[in-house]
Amino acid sequence: MTSPPATPPKAPMDPTGDTDPQLLQHLFDRQALTALALRSSTARERAAKLRRLRDGLLERREALYQAFAADLRKPPLEVELTELLPVADEARHAIAHLARWMRPRRVRPTLTTLGTRARVLYQPRGRCLIIGPWNYPVNTLLGPLVSAIAAGNAVILKPSEFTPHVNAVVAELVAALFDSAEVALVHGGVATAQHLLALPFDHVFFTGSPAVGKVVMGAAAQHLASVTLELGGKSPVIVDASADLRRAAELVLWGKFTNAGQTCVAPDHVYVHRSVHARFVQLCQETLAARYGRTDAAVQASPDLARMVTRRHAERVGGLIDDALARGATLLAGGGHDAAQRYVAPTLLGNVPGDARISGEEIFGPVLPIEPYDALQDVIGRINAQPKPLALYLFSRHRPTQALVTAQTSSGGLCLNHCVQQYAHGGLPFGGVNHSGIGNAHGVYGFKAFSHERACLAAGPFTVVRLFFAPYTALRHRLSTALVNALRWV
Ligand code: NAD
Repeated sequence: MTSPPATPPKAPMDPTGDTDPQLLQHLFDRQALTALALRSSTARERAAKLRRLRDGLLERREALYQAFAADLRKPPLEVELTELLPVADEARHAIAHLARWMRPRRVRPTLTTLGTRARVLYQPRGRCLIIGPWNYPVNTLLGPLVSAIAAGNAVILKPSEFTPHVNAVVAELVAALFDSAEVALVHGGVATAQHLLALPFDHVFFTGSPAVGKVVMGAAAQHLASVTLELGGKSPVIVDASADLRRAAELVLWGKFTNAGQTCVAPDHVYVHRSVHARFVQLCQETLAARYGRTDAAVQASPDLARMVTRRHAERVGGLIDDALARGATLLAGGGHDAAQRYVAPTLLGNVPGDARISGEEIFGPVLPIEPYDALQDVIGRINAQPKPLALYLFSRHRPTQALVTAQTSSGGLCLNHCVQQYAHGGLPFGGVNHSGIGNAHGVYGFKAFSHERACLAAGPFTVVRLFFAPYTALRHRLSTALVNALRWV
């Protein structure tokens, strides 16, 4: 540990600027002692911090409405449901269960450890780094922070550089509640993230794209820091002929167009059985018109539709639509975009060819390709030929179909006849698999992500091992043979 400078460098006032690497080092060094002290913190103390965090967040509701309007033009209802509610619920769940999660777990002795007492201890990892994305800047930063505090860690938070207004509110909240020796928020982009990643944190919790996830894992490997990677990917939807089509259309469009499609678990594209394809498309068109307006002008003026986070992101998603149409895709709804306004209309596409860019990259915007299928096995084969997605949605009332898709595919989470709600259940692990992520968040899974499960074995008065000390006499060898053979009894 290097000694901290006498006068610590100042944090940038501008939340779009990078943070001085010296300040990062200073914060990291200061957190070492706090991390040690936090090892002995009680459930009551941690729960009190979580209450303050939850209450402090909700007290800043109005400031957050305005900040979200500036960064994403996000409707206040979506701020409530997708930013405040998940963090408040994560905190509530942790407060209610923390004492039990922290309790050492007794483990019965095995044949070879007879006479010992074994326990699993849940100890804080120490100093943790949480790096967030821009799409849910409160939820993806403070949700993991709840788990990190519940587990007793010191934390440095680095939000995405693309949501400066929201970051300013969150930074003020963190500074008001915590000494930076315990929880500090630093602003900055790629350079700041890379400086942080060069520090030997005990755990790195990253939410973002698979491409950057690989960079983060590579950097963490230099220190053998453990990682949780919450990544993205192309989450497919299957709608079979038995599905409740209206319900499917309503839920899929809700999951897709909330936050203008900038959601990690948003449906990316839909496979619909050919026999119900036309009806499903019609229901989607009707639902879109009822929610956002019947003319292009009405949709663009809708207060219920968020914007792309930057002009560059709007250009990317607009470019995906134009590229698909140029290659022969059919426009089923929407299609308009205006990068200067960061606007992309809710768009439905049909006949999207496999070589269109939108078929290969995570859409992450309000565009939904819908494709008919004839045989379920073909769809399963196509899903399995792609990297494992973060979510898979199946709309089917047919139990054998549900069982088949469940058994023959893999994804971070699976949601049957519903959309996105697998994320909202605090008792379920939330995470990806391989390309869509490593490790889990939420509830006890988040607590464990930020904890070291430490094995602790204490000797009793008698220990079996003494029977096998050298010299290895014939009797002792017979005993060891009998012990090994005893393992065949069960
Ligand atoms: P991103 O990977 O571009 O950026 C995420 C964070 O990493 C930001 O803080 C950014 O400053 C930092 N970063 C960017 N490039 C870096 C580099 N080269 N080295 C170190 N750090 C770097 O992701 P994004 O565009 O902010 O977010 C969108 C992605 O996040 C999508 O793929 C989405 O699916 C995913 N996501 C996943 C979840 C989840 O819970 N699984 C939640 C939200 C978003």
